[in-house]
Amino acid sequence: MEQNTQYVVGVDLGGTKIATALLDQSGQVLRRTRFQTAELKTAEEVIDCLVRSVEEVRGDLPVAGVGVASPGAVDTERGIILNGTNLPGWAGIPLREEMKRRLGIPVQVVNDANAAAWGEYYAGAGQGSKTMVYITISTGIGSGIVLDGKLLLGSNGIAAELGHTMIGVDGPVCSCGRPGCWEAYASGTSIARIAEEAAAREASLMTNLAAQEGIPISAKHLFEAARQGDGTARQTVDEVTHYIALGLMNVVHTFNPDCIVIGGGVSRVGDDLFSPVRRKTVSLVMEPYRDTFRIVPASLGDDVGVVGAATLCFTMSENNQ
Ligand SMILES: [Zn+2]
Repeated sequence: MEQNTQYVVGVDLGGTKIATALLDQSGQVLRRTRFQTAELKTAEEVIDCLVRSVEEVRGDLPVAGVGVASPGAVDTERGIILNGTNLPGWAGIPLREEMKRRLGIPVQVVNDANAAAWGEYYAGAGQGSKTMVYITISTGIGSGIVLDGKLLLGSNGIAAELGHTMIGVDGPVCSCGRPGCWEAYASGTSIARIAEEAAAREASLMTNLAAQEGIPISAKHLFEAARQGDGTARQTVDEVTHYIALGLMNVVHTFNPDCIVIGGGVSRVGDDLFSPVRRKTVSLVMEPYRDTFRIVPASLGDDVGVVGAATLCFTMSENNQ
């Protein structure tokens, strides 16, 4: 990588779209573009589209590298997406080598939660922290860990599946098929399920709020009903924030982070979520850990994937290129 080059490109490869942005060294987005993936039929067409999106944002600027964030298991060392995307013919494609060959610049491929963790650490809510854990609570629970300024990838590049650490023996079955995962208690999907069950047992404002929108009860309805004083909702918020805090207790005891950043759709509830989660986590952890961490909302929003993937280019070692 050229030392004096100051632009990087980040690509967020989602299930339905490719979001690509050009950034400067501070993590500021300068240009962006977006493509839909629905029409793409083969891996070759997806790679064509990725390359085109990078060329579009870089123009004739000198770009130091491209980072691609992908859902699922990614072998960052070899630059291969192993599984977890619904793109056609995608598993095992040597994405990094193929893009590098066509673009003529270093490319790296990283799991999207890891990219997001790095983005929040480099340019978001985790800036200035030493050991940071990023948690995204949405359909599932994703996570990424930055230890002493370095993204923890693990020996196969698939570290930090905190959503699949267990918080309950014989608990509800998780999307991964195992019982009792943190995700099976505290993801957006699980929170909605728990709220739904509570509303089926007792009359609750949650039911009305969901009915007004003509959709099933979601975490948003739960927190809104609790805010308006609904007893069932309040009790349920107490329960689900306890589950979130249990997972965070494990995080604190394992990594001793100074900063925990929480993103994802559920985090948009704001202080009605963060206040009880902070209070419960502090009371759950062992005494020496009590004043060692802060829990803050993510700040990069939808840009987190591109910012993280792009700015990782400033730090990844040469032998990863
Ligand atoms: Zn699981």
